[in-house]
Amino acid sequence: MKVLVTDKISEKSIQILKEEVIVETNYNLTPEELAQKIKDFDALIVRSGTKVTKEVIDAADNLKVIGRAGVGVDNIDIHAATQKGIIVLNAPEGNTIAAAEHTIAMMLSLSRNIPSASNSVKRNEWERKKFMGVEIKDKVIGIIGFGRIGREVAKRVRAFGMRVLVYDPYLSRETARSKGVELVDFEILLKTSDFITLHVPLTDKTRNMIDREEFAIMKPGIRIINCARGGIINEEALYEAIKQGIVAGAALDVFEIEPPTKDNRLLTLDNVIATPHLGASTREAQENVSLDVVKDVLRALKGEQVKNPINMPTIKDEDYEKIKPYMVLAEKMGKFYVQFKNGRINEIEMIYNGEISRFETKIITISALKGILSVFLQESINIVNAPVIAKERGIRIKETKSPEIENYNNLVTLKVKTDKTTGSVSGTIFAKNDPRIVKIDDFYIDLVPEGYVLLTSHRDQPGVVGRVGTILGENDINIATMQVGRKYPRGEAIMALTVDEIVSKDIIKQLEQVKGINKMHLVIF
Ligand code: NAD
Repeated sequence: MKVLVTDKISEKSIQILKEEVIVETNYNLTPEELAQKIKDFDALIVRSGTKVTKEVIDAADNLKVIGRAGVGVDNIDIHAATQKGIIVLNAPEGNTIAAAEHTIAMMLSLSRNIPSASNSVKRNEWERKKFMGVEIKDKVIGIIGFGRIGREVAKRVRAFGMRVLVYDPYLSRETARSKGVELVDFEILLKTSDFITLHVPLTDKTRNMIDREEFAIMKPGIRIINCARGGIINEEALYEAIKQGIVAGAALDVFEIEPPTKDNRLLTLDNVIATPHLGASTREAQENVSLDVVKDVLRALKGEQVKNPINMPTIKDEDYEKIKPYMVLAEKMGKFYVQFKNGRINEIEMIYNGEISRFETKIITISALKGILSVFLQESINIVNAPVIAKERGIRIKETKSPEIENYNNLVTLKVKTDKTTGSVSGTIFAKNDPRIVKIDDFYIDLVPEGYVLLTSHRDQPGVVGRVGTILGENDINIATMQVGRKYPRGEAIMALTVDEIVSKDIIKQLEQVKGINKMHLVIF
């Protein structure tokens, strides 16, 4: 077998490859040059530099696998690869330890003022009183986001004798228990922690999740660390909270704008520690991604199960046309559900009614799972890895099929059991390719799952619809469609409004004040 490596990976990983295959390294190839070269190779290994375009893939007669040493795969035409049956895989785990250790370094630097104290000594000063620190033993650390990095941080801070609180609304209680941490509500974490560290992805839900309101209820003297993504903490609000003495120090590896602009006021403060997005920058992390990708490429070449595949398995050509729209629908249903229902998911069940139940539906079920997981996980969730990730998170998956039909020729229902409730959302395909959400719990509705949707749970009574329309109008939000579902007049009801603009948290709060409305959610498809 022949492997072509077109971006630099570690020497050690090249040696491992050479033990089993013929290796050629050739850097800085243009797509045209690569297309010329690729013909005889069985595998291609790249980082972000090489552009693996459709032309390259078309020219590859023997290629079985493309490995990306790192996470992002924007430089690879995944669709073209999938169509040709070429596996694309990446190495998402290699920098976990690096990021966790950087977090610990930041926490200790904060608690003992190391950067400022070091600078002061270098200025020939000797200010021992000024740099009095705090111990971390017996302090409470709140970890927000308990994925790969959050878990590694937890292990390490427990060794320091810290009490660990975790907020992660998508994590099952059993998983938290098995890792020896206390799963708590967001508010309790904010109120109780002496240190807070963030390990969530940047999503619409996590953008500005630490804002003025959150700082207002924190324990005065708190120290905060962000080695996740800029934008999760509102930088202006952090500046104010430090000035007000609520926050004793902040350690930031990431910024809303990177590199931060000259007028970023946080950089003027002594008790802010800043590093230039160094979380993954260790020799070992760079080595790990090389080794991970090489090992996975070798697995693929031997026909073994790969660890981190990106693209999906192929479906029989004759079934593809029928199944594809349901995959899109199921993914949207999954995405939809988790944006308005709370609770830790224990089980998802997909129920297929009608003709669709006669097909191989597993890939549709996995698409729903993909939709659910992609709302709250950082890694690139795909059809291949979604079941593995669900299993790791303790989510059971079930399928029920029946050719019998009620109101629709084909109906797909996603039923989700959480530790709080059981709820469902159903959808169908109108005409050939027109996905619709037609039922939410017991409410019938007809919703096009696209763009922004405001979803209420409210009591059906005069004035609610009008008032909501007025508030949106006053805020220059254009309503595209409106749907109301109710069980009986003046009973429990839901309303789904598709809107052309994103609706801010403040407007949602205003809407929730409308008499009759219990809850308002913004769902983004
Ligand atoms: P991960 O996907 O393994 O874990 C993310 C966790 O966040 C999941 O457990 C998820 O359930 C949880 N989560 C999602 N939304 C949440 C919310 N609203 N509230 C609370 N929890 C929520 O990701 P990871 O690999 O641990 O990475 C975590 C973060 O670190 C990401 O933002 C990643 O980009 C960042 N990162 C930064 C660097 C760096 O150089 N500084 C390096 C690696 C990773």
